Amino acid sequence: MPSRVWKNKADKTERKEWACKTNIPYKNSEAILKISIHWFRNDLRLTDNPALIQAAEAGIVLPVFIWDAECAAELGPGGASRWWLHHSLVQLNDSLGGALNIYCGNPQDVLATLAKEHAVDQVCWNHSYEPQSPQRDEAVAEEMRSSGRDVQTFNGSLLWDPEEVLKADGTPYKVFTPFYKRGCLNAMPPRKPQKAQRVRYQKASDSLSVDDLGLLPKIAWDAEFSNHWKPGEAGALQALRHFLAEGIGDYKDGRNFPAKKKTSRLSPHLHWGEISVNQVWYAAREFLPSEQVDVFCSELGWREFSACLLFHFPNLPSENLNRQFDAFPWEHNEAWLLAWQKGQTGIPLVDAGMRELWRTGFMHNRVRMVAASFLVKNLLIHWHHGADWFRDTLVDADLANNSASWQWVAGCGADAAPYFRIFNPVTQGKKFDPAGEYIRTNVPELGNLPNKYLFSPWEAPEAVLGEAGVELGKTYPKPIVDLKESRQHALAAYAMLKARDTSSEPC
Ligand SMILES: Cc1cc2nc3c(=O)[nH]c(=O)nc-3n(C[C@H](O)[C@H](O)[C@H](O)COP(=O)(O)OP(=O)(O)OC[C@H]3O[C@@H](n4cnc5c(N)ncnc54)[C@H](O)[C@@H]3O)c2cc1C
Repeated sequence: MPSRVWKNKADKTERKEWACKTNIPYKNSEAILKISIHWFRNDLRLTDNPALIQAAEAGIVLPVFIWDAECAAELGPGGASRWWLHHSLVQLNDSLGGALNIYCGNPQDVLATLAKEHAVDQVCWNHSYEPQSPQRDEAVAEEMRSSGRDVQTFNGSLLWDPEEVLKADGTPYKVFTPFYKRGCLNAMPPRKPQKAQRVRYQKASDSLSVDDLGLLPKIAWDAEFSNHWKPGEAGALQALRHFLAEGIGDYKDGRNFPAKKKTSRLSPHLHWGEISVNQVWYAAREFLPSEQVDVFCSELGWREFSACLLFHFPNLPSENLNRQFDAFPWEHNEAWLLAWQKGQTGIPLVDAGMRELWRTGFMHNRVRMVAASFLVKNLLIHWHHGADWFRDTLVDADLANNSASWQWVAGCGADAAPYFRIFNPVTQGKKFDPAGEYIRTNVPELGNLPNKYLFSPWEAPEAVLGEAGVELGKTYPKPIVDLKESRQHALAAYAMLKARDTSSEPC
C-alpha cells in the first residue's frame, strides 16, 4: 500500500510536488502519511463525525460527496430536500476551506477511480441504514479491500445500532415503549460526542461545484425557505441552542401547539447529519434533567424506532406493515388529492398545515397527524400518495420517519393508532390553536372570522361570513367532504376489512 515515507535523501522535486499537491508544508513532508477518503453522506458535519475522525487521525483526508442521480430518483431526496442539500453542501465546503470534492455518478465507480488516482490507503464512512445502502456499501467495501485498501465504517446517525436493539428472541421490536425502555434505555448509554479534529484536507482538480449538481428548483417555489431555515452545521447548532433556551423548558405541553414554536425544528439538520443525534441527546440531558427533557428524548427515541423499523422491514415505504391492510378499500379521487396538496380542502386546520408545508417546507407534528389522518381516513386516499407528497415537499423528508409515521396514522404501521382514532380537525384546532393564530397565519383569507367559526366556517351564519369578508366557495372553499359522514364511511371501510379478514389475528 503506498504511504509517503520520505527519507532526507528523497528526491526533493518529488517531495516538493507532493507537498504542493497535498497542501502539507514541505518541512513536514517527511512524515508517514496515509491518505484517506472520507465519504460524506448523511453526515454533513465536522464535529462528532466518527468516520471523519478516523480518517483525520491517519493523515490526509480527501473529503468526497457523491450525488448518485439514479439512486436519488428512487425514493431519494425530493424537491425541498434537494434545496436543503444544496445549501448544506455549500456550508460544508466553506467549513472545509473549499476542499470538498464533489462528483456525480455511481459511488463504487467514483470511489474506485479516486482511490487509484490519489493512492488512497483507507476509505471511511458512516453507515446509512436506508434499504439501498447496505448492499451498495458492501460492494464499495469489497472493491476497496480487494485493492488492498482499508475500509472503516461507523454508526454516525443513530444513538443505538439497529442490529443490536432486538427483543430477547432476536427479532425486532414493533411496539415503541418496550423498544425504547427495554431495548434502548436499558442498553449501553449512547456514545458521547467527540470534538472536531484538525484535519489536513486534499482537493482534487476534477471536483464539480455544488451548482453543477443542479439541486435547486427551476421554478422558484422555494422563495420563502431561506427566511425559515439555515442549512449547515452552524445553523444546526444555532437551532439547538435556540431550542435549549426557548423550547425545552416547556416542551411537554408546548410541543402540541403549532403557533408556539416550542419544538426544536432540528429534523432537517438531523436528517442530513449536520448535527449528530448524540450531540442533541447529551446537550438536552446535560442542560436540565426533567420530565420535559425526558419527553424530548423520547421523541428522539421515535426517530430511532422508525430507523429500526426501516432497517428490519426495508419494504416499509411501500408495503403495509400489517398486511391485513392490503385489502383496504381505498377510494382514489384525484381532485380531492389536489385540493389536499394545495391546502384547498375547506377544512381550515388541514389547509393551514398544507400551506405551511408548501411555503416553508415544514409542518408542525400535531398538524401533520391531523392532515395525514384527513387524507387517509376522511378522504380514503392511500397513504402512499400522502407520503409521496411529504417526501417531495418537506425539508426534513426522511424515508424512515415519513414511512413509519404515515403507516402509524393509517393504522397499518407499527404500534399504530387504533383505526377508529380519527382526528377531528375542528376539535384539534380548538384545542391546539385556541387563539387561531396558526390558522390565521397560514389561511389569511379567514383572518377576520371570529374564533367561534374559524375552525368550521361552514357553520357560520351568512352575516358573520359577510362581515369577515368570507364567501364560501369563492374566497375560501366549501369543505370537500362532510367530516361526520366521511368518518362514518371510513369506519365502515374498516369494518369491511375486518369482515374480509379470514385470519383470527386482530387488525
Ligand atoms: C404523517 C407524518 C409524516 C412525517 N414525516 C417525517 C419526515 O419525513 N421526517 C421527519 O424527520 N419526521 C417526520 N415526521 C415526524 C415529526 O412530525 C417530525 O419529526 C417533527 O415534526 C420535526 O419537528 P422538530 O424537529 O421540531 O421535532 P421535535 O419535537 O423537536 O423532536 C426532536 C426530533 O425528534 C424526532 N422526532 C420527533 N417526532 C418524531 C416522530 N413522530 N417520529 C420520528 N421522529 C420524530 C425528529 O428527528 C425531531 O427533529 C412525520 C410525522 C407525521 C405524522
